[in-house]
Amino acid sequence: MELGADHIDIELKAAHEFNNFLHGNKPGKCKVIISSHNYDSTPPIEDLGNLVARIQAAGADIIKFATTALDITDVARVFQITVHSQVPIIAMVMGERGLMSRILCPKFGGYLTFGSLEAGQVSAPGQPTIEELVNLYNFRLLEPDTKVFGIIGNPVSHSKSPKLYNEAFKSVGFNGVYLHLLVDDVQKFFRTYSSMDFAGFRTYSSMDFAGFSVTIPHKEAALACCDEVDPVAKSIGAVNCVVRRPDGKLFGCNTDYVGAISSIEDGLLGSQNGSTGTGSPLAGKLFVVIGAGGAGKALAYGAKEKGARVLIANRTYDRARELADLVGGQALSLAELDNFRPEKGMILANTTSIGMHPKVNETPISKEALANYMLVLNAVYTPKITRLLREAAESGAQIVTGVDMFIGQAYEQYERFTGLPAPKEQFKKIMEN
Ligand code: NAP
Repeated sequence: MELGADHIDIELKAAHEFNNFLHGNKPGKCKVIISSHNYDSTPPIEDLGNLVARIQAAGADIIKFATTALDITDVARVFQITVHSQVPIIAMVMGERGLMSRILCPKFGGYLTFGSLEAGQVSAPGQPTIEELVNLYNFRLLEPDTKVFGIIGNPVSHSKSPKLYNEAFKSVGFNGVYLHLLVDDVQKFFRTYSSMDFAGFRTYSSMDFAGFSVTIPHKEAALACCDEVDPVAKSIGAVNCVVRRPDGKLFGCNTDYVGAISSIEDGLLGSQNGSTGTGSPLAGKLFVVIGAGGAGKALAYGAKEKGARVLIANRTYDRARELADLVGGQALSLAELDNFRPEKGMILANTTSIGMHPKVNETPISKEALANYMLVLNAVYTPKITRLLREAAESGAQIVTGVDMFIGQAYEQYERFTGLPAPKEQFKKIMEN
């Protein structure tokens, strides 16, 4: 039905009572949904309020509007509208940056959401599949007081973290959901989702945006957004985990190094048949880190903390030198690494993307040089067994995969997010599939 409202596209739809459908009855009464689509942007909150009032005045039983997310913070305005609506409301923010609006509608008072039957067969941009809504994000379990977690990154849609955490949340009955969060401006993200105003609604709170994993390229910027930062993360200059404390403040830490270092320690302890002695099995070992980026820094600080002697080998020598100076270690250019064979029994950690899919034939060090290492870790996790790890194993070294490292950092984050012990076996199984 055309109601002649300038740029608003008004439709009339019959929404039959769901139970009537289920029982094969004719609907007793049809309801009117009046909808508006904005394919360019998400207007300011006053304009959204006016739009909703006009739709309501036009006789809607159910209000529907869809806008377009230019930034993930656009979704916050839409949540504020749905929470305060007196009339049943369907409100979606289109595009990947608006994904959260489609998943969290049970939390913020939305009447329903849309899902596609098959990936890529969407009726509007950013629509997840029914399978993703129900099985990946546990849509049917979400409630107003469900806590929100997620991975902040760009790009981020490839991340397996939502699968890992949501399955674990469901299995222990933890009332939380973990989302893919495509973020462009991390400071704006934290500012917006720390201060959403739900005046008069005790059930809804900015506090419910409870914890975040942070990945490329936001690890350094996220640190600057935290009210308090763990001293090791401060030294590394990057956080990959941000937790909201009970007082609302943001606490940042770095679990990348915890995951990698504990996986290496487990490997070394395993090879010593459990004879631990006291302290870390890394103490006194020569620990060679290839790379001086975020993961390289995390490994270098972690190794230093455990009492290892650290050497950094990097393509850009000056960056190796800079990091080596910070951790009191030595520096080499990557080209010199093959001939660096001062002793047997060293530890090697590759933190560059060399050997990552699709360039799976590349490797940062020759097989001959690997004979001097007792354990080799590769941060790369696609593929799980890289050429570096295959050749290290053939040379007699123990190997630790990027998947082991990833799972290790995820245990730590899960425990910080939930206060519960991480379901370690379940995490391993999920990552293996
Ligand atoms: P980053 O900060 O961008 O650092 C990249 C490092 O790799 C730099 O030292 C860079 O050297 C070096 N590099 C890049 N391409 C190279 C090439 N073709 N040849 C030689 N050196 C090269 O990245 P990041 O955050 O540290 O991540 C690095 C890798 O670790 C990625 O593959 C990431 O997926 C992985 N990672 C895995 C986990 C896990 O849980 N498994 C966690 C974090 C990161 P220059 O200084 O010369 O540019």
